[in-house]
Amino acid sequence: MELACKLADRLGDRGRLRLIDRGTEILEDAPKFNQTASKEALAEHNVWIDYETEVAALTENTISLKYKETVDELPVDLVLWTVGTAIAPWVEALDLPHTDRGQLPTNEQLQIIDHPQIFALGDVAQGKADVPMTAQVAIQQADVCAWNIRALITEKPLLAFNFFNLGEMLTLGENNATLSGLGVELEGNLAHIARRLVYLYRLPTWQHQLNVGLNWMVQPLVKLLANQD
Ligand SMILES: Cc1cc2nc3c(=O)[nH]c(=O)nc-3n(C[C@H](O)[C@H](O)[C@H](O)COP(=O)(O)OP(=O)(O)OC[C@H]3O[C@@H](n4cnc5c(N)ncnc54)[C@H](O)[C@@H]3O)c2cc1C
Repeated sequence: MELACKLADRLGDRGRLRLIDRGTEILEDAPKFNQTASKEALAEHNVWIDYETEVAALTENTISLKYKETVDELPVDLVLWTVGTAIAPWVEALDLPHTDRGQLPTNEQLQIIDHPQIFALGDVAQGKADVPMTAQVAIQQADVCAWNIRALITEKPLLAFNFFNLGEMLTLGENNATLSGLGVELEGNLAHIARRLVYLYRLPTWQHQLNVGLNWMVQPLVKLLANQD
């Protein structure tokens, strides 16, 4: 979303950005509030959304879009492919069970099915609960996984992983964001500031926090000076 809004701003009248999605909605798994705020931000930045449309082919200068069995070839300058991450080939090659997507299936305790001595977590794992492939999930699983490895070694009961959804934050271009979680829904500049504060808080060391915080403060000054040239 951030990329689309920022690019559309940079393009201005020189071109039109189209967002292609084969679904009937963008951000299908997002909270409704974030979904609506994102669609509004895209509309504000004049980004068209093509729903139920698939990329059928791509050449150096053209893109072919398939909508309801009809394929249209359009001239294109720039294509950004953001359809998600794939499982690493070496993970798929492991002599372990795999899901259709190549992930490692686990039980509630994060042990790989039929291999209780091996744990899997994060994007590579597909547990019983349908959880999104996000950093939030991976971080929460890390705690349970560490606990369970110790429990397995010391022959203590293992813990089941339960995802506690803290919500979702999305940037929507310059100084704009939307956030939804723990009963709070915010958008606009306030959400942008809140998101940055949460990110600073979540960074692992004070050195990271200082580097990122300083960068955020210096960047607008650099832009301001660059624009004066
Ligand atoms: C563009 C993008 C934006 C995202 N934005 C968000 C977001 O805003 N919020 C959010 O919650 N999630 C976001 N995610 C998802 C989030 O990054 C992942 O869900 C999260 O990083 C998963 O953690 P992980 O530990 O499973 O995998 P990773 O963070 O991918 O860690 C795997 C590590 O293994 C290393 N590795 C791979 N192969 C080998 C090897 N053979 N030997 C040694 N090391 C290896 C990799 O280099 C990597 O460091 C985003 C993902 C992408 C791609």
